[in-house]
Amino acid sequence: MFDNCRVPARALLGEKDKGFDLMGQWLGSTRLQVAATSVGRARRVLEMATQWAATRKQFGQAIGQFQGTGFKLADMATELEAADLLTHMAAWKCDQGTMTDSDAAMAKLYASEALARITDNALQIFGGMGLMDELPIERFWRDARVERIWDGTSEIQRLIISRAMLREHGA
Ligand SMILES: Cc1cc2nc3c(=O)[nH]c(=O)nc-3n(C[C@H](O)[C@H](O)[C@H](O)COP(=O)(O)OP(=O)(O)OC[C@H]3O[C@@H](n4cnc5c(N)ncnc54)[C@H](O)[C@@H]3O)c2cc1C
Repeated sequence: MFDNCRVPARALLGEKDKGFDLMGQWLGSTRLQVAATSVGRARRVLEMATQWAATRKQFGQAIGQFQGTGFKLADMATELEAADLLTHMAAWKCDQGTMTDSDAAMAKLYASEALARITDNALQIFGGMGLMDELPIERFWRDARVERIWDGTSEIQRLIISRAMLREHGA
């Protein structure tokens, strides 16, 4: 936070005293970057977890053949595709100049929360090895946490989406 910070006129971006509005316009596209990063990381983690589930054997079979693991993979893949599509739709609207704050908020909210669930499930599939730093899984899991905080927390994204919904009904 800057208080009484003097900025020379040549360094002014946009209109004086309208900085927050300007930042609001940029935030939409930076939120899309968070969404896209989340989708990319989730895809990499899912690939690793699938390969592990197909090759790690316990009780005489690949652990992916146990329903408890196979169903996790199915849910992870489904969430990943939903996050990917939501992000692509918002990005396409951004290119068309029609993206709303809610579009960006939904993409960021869903993709970052899907990444959290996907990395957590991946770590579970890797079992104890998932927490060891010889493998990159625990790093993906730890790094996923910040995506729900920066560029507006998940609560703030929900606030943006719900306020826009209520505004349409006069609230
Ligand atoms: C690693 C890292 C890097 C960062 N990099 C940058 C950067 O480069 N540039 C930058 O500008 N910022 C950056 N940030 C700051 C980041 O954007 C803020 O941490 C984030 O916006 C949350 O603000 P806060 O930490 O002040 O939390 P607070 O605003 O204090 O929020 C704390 C909790 O209260 C909840 N909350 C607050 N207000 C409401 C509300 N109205 N309704 C419901 N719940 C609410 C939040 O959701 C959260 O759960 C970075 C943060 C981290 C962790």
